[in-house]
Amino acid sequence: MVLPVVKYGDPVLRKKGRPVEKVTPEIQALIADMIETMSAARGVGLAAQQVGHALLLAVLDVRKAEDRPSTLEIDGKPADLDAHMPMVLLNPAVKPVNAPVAGPEGCLSFPEIYTDITRPETVDVRALDPEGRVIEFRAGGLLGRAVQHELDHLNGILFIDRMTQEDRDDLRPKLDKLQAATKSALKKSKGGR
Ligand code: ZN
Repeated sequence: MVLPVVKYGDPVLRKKGRPVEKVTPEIQALIADMIETMSAARGVGLAAQQVGHALLLAVLDVRKAEDRPSTLEIDGKPADLDAHMPMVLLNPAVKPVNAPVAGPEGCLSFPEIYTDITRPETVDVRALDPEGRVIEFRAGGLLGRAVQHELDHLNGILFIDRMTQEDRDDLRPKLDKLQAATKSALKKSKGGR
């Protein structure tokens, strides 16, 4: 089922995720819905907060972004990217491997807003998969950027927190408009219940 994507201004985007202790049938259903939602929105990643759940759970799929290469290494060797997509990460942690670089970023919770964000080019990732197995890999390029963007979501951090003051000032009118629209929609939906 394709879920509505939460937009900037909804307080759930600022909530830190709780660890996923057990992959229950509800969590399995949520994972399937998140993958479907990400694909329908043509996103490269989606965090649980973006569909209204404050959990340490994110999904990723960089296969459609052919113009922005990704790298994936497992046990120090290049791995087949397609074979590992879509990726489901539970309770993930990342460690930067090299220096930060600037690159373009967008977010499904911020429609039509794009800006450059500076992040480490490559990161080491450790997480659990839905079967409860530990997965470890090194992600670079778009995948490295997407993993860090999603991990931020899981901690209640948004890409607008990482943009330069100048970019934030430039985007301020758009951000304020989006936030106001989201808040007014939330108020209406609460009033309607
Ligand atoms: Zn995002």
